[in-house]
Amino acid sequence: MTASGSRIPTPEVYAGLDIGGTTTQVVLCAADLTVVDSVEVPTPAAEGGRAMVRAALAALDLLRERVPSRLLGVGVGAAGVVDSRAGRILVASDSFRSWAGFPVTATVEDALGVPAFLDNDVNAFLRGEVAKGAVAGEPAALGMTLGTGVGGALWLDGALFEGAHGAAGEIGHLPGFGDLPCTCGGRGHLETLASGRSLAARYGERTGRSLTARGIAEVAVDGDLDALAVYEAAGAGVARAILITAGLVDLTTCVIGGGVSRAWDLLEPSIAAALAAEPPVSGQPIRVVRARLGSRAVAIGAASRARTELGAVTRVYGGGVGNCR
Ligand SMILES: [Zn+2]
Repeated sequence: MTASGSRIPTPEVYAGLDIGGTTTQVVLCAADLTVVDSVEVPTPAAEGGRAMVRAALAALDLLRERVPSRLLGVGVGAAGVVDSRAGRILVASDSFRSWAGFPVTATVEDALGVPAFLDNDVNAFLRGEVAKGAVAGEPAALGMTLGTGVGGALWLDGALFEGAHGAAGEIGHLPGFGDLPCTCGGRGHLETLASGRSLAARYGERTGRSLTARGIAEVAVDGDLDALAVYEAAGAGVARAILITAGLVDLTTCVIGGGVSRAWDLLEPSIAAALAAEPPVSGQPIRVVRARLGSRAVAIGAASRARTELGAVTRVYGGGVGNCR
């Protein structure tokens, strides 16, 4: 605003939008992905895709008013199955209206006139933690989010590995973790042990009591044996998933986020014990760390995707980033 007449060069920024089921996080990042400003607004999930993107863009407008800057590109992280190449949502949960099929990047590009990119939220989470978080600079890492469900993503050879259909690293719905029914319709998936919803269900089965994952963590700290047991089973399941991944792709780093990971003191010992009991065949120790960027990881990761994509264009054409507009 007032800086327009000054001689200080306008900083170049990337925006990251994390459009979640209840809230939308928006960050404005400097070229090195340091967060310059951020805001959280409610997601109007029941009003449809257009309203959801409009709300995110209104929040971004607010940030751009507060921080005079030149926007180079926008990354979007969204829940559900996405087509990251076409920039479109493929499958969304029931809580969203008119979100499946919505052309996210085209809508953002039309509104702002800068390139936009779309990622699944778990992929964006891992991009964020690799760019500025707990596993910054790692060439390879498994990312897991233990929230309402269990999400996973793979970072290999310095890049996100999406697989042929964008579903690589989807560790939550891998079979071999018992025989309990999963939310996806399958059985014995990791999610039946390690999601917030599953912790509550497993604790309820043992005790007849209804507590949230957070509530179970609180009574576990007070020595509730059933609460300790369900967290221990979750940690053992997570460790098993890490070992399977490590055995397949020979990685030695895992970063874990999501609401359930707040009970790190309960999870970490059982993960460590299971990893020690069955070390990977590579003989290399596995480092498991808690995510560091909290609720902003997805938005920062989305901004990092935009920076990576636009940086690649700059390298190819050798010009300024503005050339790719
Ligand atoms: Zn499943």
